[in-house]
Amino acid sequence: MSVEINKVTVIGAGTMGAGIAALCATAGCQVWLLDMKTEMATASIERLSGGKRPVITQQQAALITAGSLEDDFSTIADSDWICEAVVEDLKIKRDLFSRIEKVRSDGSVVTTNTSGIPLKDIVADMPERLRRDIAVTHFFNPVHIMKLVELVPGADTQQQVMDRLTNFLSGPLGKGVVHAKDTVNFIGNRIGCFWMLAGLHKAAKAQGISMETIDALMSRPVGLPPTGLYGLIDLIGLDVMDFVAKNLDKNLPADDIGRQFLELPDTESVMLGNGQLGRKTGGGFYKLVKAEDGSKSMEVYDLQARQWRPMNAVELESAHQDIKTLVFANDAEGKFSWDLMSSTLEYASSLVPEISNDIVNVDRAMAWGFNWALGPFKLIDAIGAQAFAEKLQSEGRELSGMLKVLIENGHSSFYRNDESEFLTVSGTYEKVQG
Ligand code: NAD
Repeated sequence: MSVEINKVTVIGAGTMGAGIAALCATAGCQVWLLDMKTEMATASIERLSGGKRPVITQQQAALITAGSLEDDFSTIADSDWICEAVVEDLKIKRDLFSRIEKVRSDGSVVTTNTSGIPLKDIVADMPERLRRDIAVTHFFNPVHIMKLVELVPGADTQQQVMDRLTNFLSGPLGKGVVHAKDTVNFIGNRIGCFWMLAGLHKAAKAQGISMETIDALMSRPVGLPPTGLYGLIDLIGLDVMDFVAKNLDKNLPADDIGRQFLELPDTESVMLGNGQLGRKTGGGFYKLVKAEDGSKSMEVYDLQARQWRPMNAVELESAHQDIKTLVFANDAEGKFSWDLMSSTLEYASSLVPEISNDIVNVDRAMAWGFNWALGPFKLIDAIGAQAFAEKLQSEGRELSGMLKVLIENGHSSFYRNDESEFLTVSGTYEKVQG
């Protein structure tokens, strides 16, 4: 078995497994893609290399061999990397890893693409060899576009396994590796889901601000993607949000402030029950309507009236177009933006070092996985870290985590020297690597 990764078996030919197989083929690896039936993997390979916008060329597709878990499991013996990307179910994943461990060769590395199941639960009572050779490689969807991979070791994972995966992911696969810890939802989804779930609740309480305005505020002015809050949840689906919230409920620490937002607000619960989930069901918060004359227009679902209405264009006033002035604006839009963004940034600050050893990995996770122009700590710097902390304190909110480190050490920003140095948990600055 070579130290380089050349032969890969991906198990699970769904959205993520197919994307990971394609990425490996693009890097010139020889790939086996296994699913319950060979036809499922074959169909995925055809989807990847066909259609209007193929993800891989026919030549790259020829590097991927479709197979089934029943007939082709022995390919694992010859693989440098076995990547599991089956359905998010602890028992199914554990059964699979027990089988993999019996077949794989010494020197191979094994990963799971779980988005939320703790690795410690997956490897509990598993053989020591597996616990030494396994990690989480959490890719983001779509795999060929999103830069982020969160790499998470288990308690017993060897450093050489982590180094080998880091080199492969950031080298041949061209990904941005973020080092995360084995905590629920890792970094990106822990903070991203807090922002979304808290956002739904805070927006529901923000009287008089339309859905279009909420999304206009929670996009360009704060450096977030144009989908904003509701548009992003339409893309993800309310059912997925509910699934994520249930997993958070199982695994979040008892005192986590995100717990108060895990139940969907009333109207969103009704929408979920009615199957009004988002783009995949033809409409969630927004829908595209086609008139008889063929013209198209957008409608929004009025959450108070619980009915559809035409979408209005939004023109934000200039003070609302920049986070530096927006969060200090003393009107409904400013107060809502401060409420949601300050809670999210305060949350991110409180989670270092619980979920990541440093702020750089947190900022990269949000930039590379959620397309935030600035990660939470760079955002606080953009607002002005001292002004941000003072406003929190003026509201009686205690500083925690990295904000506390910053203020107690008399610093004024998380990054300095053109962002070439960052503030560490010990209160000193270190060079940003990579
Ligand atoms: P998917 O539903 O598209 O694919 C899952 C695949 O697992 C299917 O091909 C299915 O046939 C296979 N499968 C189901 N039961 C199985 C079993 N008993 N044994 C073997 N294979 C079985 O799911 P996905 O979105 O590709 O997600 C796969 C993993 O990646 C999950 O753990 C998920 O949480 C994680 N993930 C998903 C995303 C995302 O945005 N979709 C992002 C990051 C991580």
